Formats: sequence, structure tokens, C-alpha cells
Amino acid sequence: MTSRKTALITGSNSGIGLGIAHALAATGHDIVINSFTERDEDHALAELLGKEHGVKSVYIKADMSRSDECRALIANAASVFGGVDILVNNAGIQHVAPVEEFPTEKWDAVIAINLTSAFHTVAAAVPLMKSAGWGRIINVASAHGLRASPFKSAYVAAKHGIVGFTKAVALELAENKITSNAICPGYVLTPLVEAQIPDQMKTHDMDRETVIREIMLDKQPTRQFVTTEQIGALAAFLCSENAAQINGAALSVDGGWTAE
Ligand code: NAD
Repeated sequence: MTSRKTALITGSNSGIGLGIAHALAATGHDIVINSFTERDEDHALAELLGKEHGVKSVYIKADMSRSDECRALIANAASVFGGVDILVNNAGIQHVAPVEEFPTEKWDAVIAINLTSAFHTVAAAVPLMKSAGWGRIINVASAHGLRASPFKSAYVAAKHGIVGFTKAVALELAENKITSNAICPGYVLTPLVEAQIPDQMKTHDMDRETVIREIMLDKQPTRQFVTTEQIGALAAFLCSENAAQINGAALSVDGGWTAE
């Protein structure tokens, strides 16, 4: 196993981020959980995760739509753990609307949280990684970082943007033992996606299984959801020494969606 590092995962109090936090804690890394809320349950979640895996784990609130809070998150994590070795940019939101009706504030929020936040966290974390002589940057993009869908213009722009950002950073840091990679999931059954199923059942007058197969997983050739455990396992592998030469990659975990 890799020696013990500090891993910070943005947007990690649910879904894919929490799955990655569990996978990295299970490989023995200390963990910083993050979201924009400040609730007892957020801190309890971090404590539980630490106990479960026998690592140190803290929750640090920071709103990823704000540049100052992105940079403060890295500084606050470093003040607790002495550095940030693994940075996973995972926080993300979606908004669906035709481009001519897309609300400007929604466009700005999607770009800020899904793309610009990664610029700020990476910019703040790289000096720490350079002085430690090792680092891993993992950006959770999407199949929508490689392919488009209608009515998701901001999300598709942000996810294509983060794939490009991932590659530029990989080239800049390649000689510093710091890698930068993007994970591009297809549909993952997170609480966010689960919550859409009842509405889709009503809209299409279909049962749960048909909605999942015919509507939600229409583009995913395996017709199965990706799991948060599968994304977590890939993130953990990218943090291992065996992944030292995987750099600047956009790794698809999408059941074959982007093979077409
Ligand atoms: P989720 O809603 O369960 O998780 C999103 C996380 O981001 C939550 O922890 C939320 O609190 C956090 N977040 C939202 N706004 C924030 C803000 N302003 N500041 C800090 N944190 C904030 O959704 P998820 O499906 O787990 O999505 C996680 C990432 O995976 C996103 O980047 C998403 O685009 C990407 N993704 C998801 C899917 C999928 O099918 N679920 C597929 C491809 C990519």
C-alpha cells in the first residue's frame, strides 16, 4: 500500500465524493470531507468515516462557488494535516434548460462550482505538493466532458473545460511526481439521480425498471449504473505508485457510452 497521505475531496458529504472518501480512507489516507453546509451531521460523518477506517478525518465547510473559500479550504486543510497530498475536485451541480432560456445565474453557478473551483484549489494545493515532492490531482469530470447532450450547455462546457484543465496541469507538473487525471463517469446511482426516478416514472408512465433501462441508461450500453464504489476504487488506484505514469488522462467509467 501507499504510505499515509492527506486526501481532500470537495463536495464529499454525499454521492461520488463520499464514495471516494471511503475508498481513500480504506487505503489508509487521512481525509478532509467538504461541502457548503455547516451542520453537526457533516462533522459526525467525518468522525464516523475516520473511526470506520482507523484514519484521521475532518469536515471543513467551504462554498466551492467562491474563489476565496476554495483557497481557504486548502489552507485550512494544510493547517490541520500539514499539507494536501491528494486533491479530488468532485463538487458539482447540474441545471437543465434550453440554451436561449438558460438563466445567467445558473450558468455562472455551474461554471464556478464544476470548473473554476478546481482552478483555485489546484493553484493553492500545488505549492504544498511541490514542497512534499509528491501529489495527486483527480478531477471528477463526466461522460459529458467527452460528449454532449442537449439542454445541458453549462454542464457540458464545464466538464469539457475541466478535462482540458486536467491535461494542462498534467503537463506543467509532470516532472514533479504530481499527476493530474480526470475520471469521466457515466450515470452513477447517487441520491441525486435516485431522486429523479419517481418524476421520470410519472412523466413517462413507466415502472421503475423501465425508466432506468429505457430513459436513464439509454446511452449507457451496459444498461447498468456505475457505482460510487467503482469510482472510489479507480481514485484509490490513481493514488497508488502503480499509477505514477497515468497522467493527463480522461478515464471513462461509463459502461461503454463514449465508445460510440
Ligand atoms: P451529489 O449531489 O450527491 O454530490 C455533489 C456534492 O457536491 C455534494 O456533496 C454537495 O454538497 C457538493 N456541492 C454542491 N455544491 C457545492 C458548493 N457550492 N460547495 C461545496 N460543495 C458543493 O452528486 P454526485 O452525483 O455525487 O456528483 C458528484 C460529481 O460527480 C459532480 O461533479 C458530478 O457532476 C459528477 N458526476 C455525476 C454523475 C452521476 O450520474 N451522478 C455522472 C458523472 C459525473
